[in-house]
Amino acid sequence: NTPLIEVKGLHKSFVVKKGFLGESKYVRAVDGISFAIRKGETFSLVGESGCGKSTTGRLVTRLLKPNEGEVWFNGQNISAYNDNQMRPVRKEMQMVFQDPYASLNPRMKVKDIVSEPLLIHTKMSSRERDKFATELLEVVGLSSYHAERHAHEFSGGQRQRIGIARALSVRPSLIVADEPVSALDVSIQSQVLNLLQDLQEEYGLTYLFISHDLSVVEHISDRIGVMYLGALVETAGKDALYDRPLHPYTQALLSSVPVADPSQKKERIILKGDIPSPVNPPSGCRFHTRCPSCMDICKQIQPVFQEVEPDHRVACHLYDETIMGKDGVHIN
Ligand code: SF4
Ligand code: MG
Repeated sequence: NTPLIEVKGLHKSFVVKKGFLGESKYVRAVDGISFAIRKGETFSLVGESGCGKSTTGRLVTRLLKPNEGEVWFNGQNISAYNDNQMRPVRKEMQMVFQDPYASLNPRMKVKDIVSEPLLIHTKMSSRERDKFATELLEVVGLSSYHAERHAHEFSGGQRQRIGIARALSVRPSLIVADEPVSALDVSIQSQVLNLLQDLQEEYGLTYLFISHDLSVVEHISDRIGVMYLGALVETAGKDALYDRPLHPYTQALLSSVPVADPSQKKERIILKGDIPSPVNPPSGCRFHTRCPSCMDICKQIQPVFQEVEPDHRVACHLYDETIMGKDGVHIN
């Protein structure tokens, strides 16, 4: 079972002008991350704002080019593809964004918003596109009656349905959804999440789901990656991550997720300090300035991102012994 997406050692820096001498500095937005997404699964990237998760989504769909590293799609290395080579691949990867109002043109009719990717990627006639757009509106729980109206006439949840219909129009295999429900009321959030799950089953879709909120991704994820300051600190299956979070950062994030059963309530871990600047990330473990378990080694040596249990990886010195024990290797 080849993964649909495989990301290997991805790096992306942006130049920021700094200081009155105008010298260039770099923000290391994504600093060496690797993960795979299997066909038909939902992989979620979670972390605080600025951790690099949106940049990662844009690197996967090649809206951005990496400085280093590779993106494999369906067994092909697309990292160096030119625009012509990317064209058929772009059709396979669609994005859904956080703010449906900002990403939908308010002057366009809904049927034209939904069918715009068909105009770009297919030779369908305008009559065929209109017909297909109307069908898609029904697929996402709207009706053909909405086709002639404009995006601004709809509520946030309805606009997100329009954005999803648009993404679906070209029958992609991957949808990258960047904070798709963050702008919506909680009751509407679950409707949109349910819709995404139904569509996944119906069309065999693979999702890369991006969110700052571990309580949002719990129900829809198969696997989760937690990011901090441009790097993955932990990846695991959903149950393993929620039941046995290994990284102190994941533990802190989870401690603030509301639970239905009060006897399951964990003590809230409050992290000290702010997220350091990605222009000057801390030495050693990049989480050491805020970690409640910080040891001397953490300030000097960057922990390796390693598999501690099957399909459960973590970058933290607390598990060095587990890893050494497993491999029977001692590092002096
Ligand atoms: Fe905390 Fe050290 Fe683990 Fe980093 S490596 S998360 S500082 S214990
Ligand atoms: Mg973001």
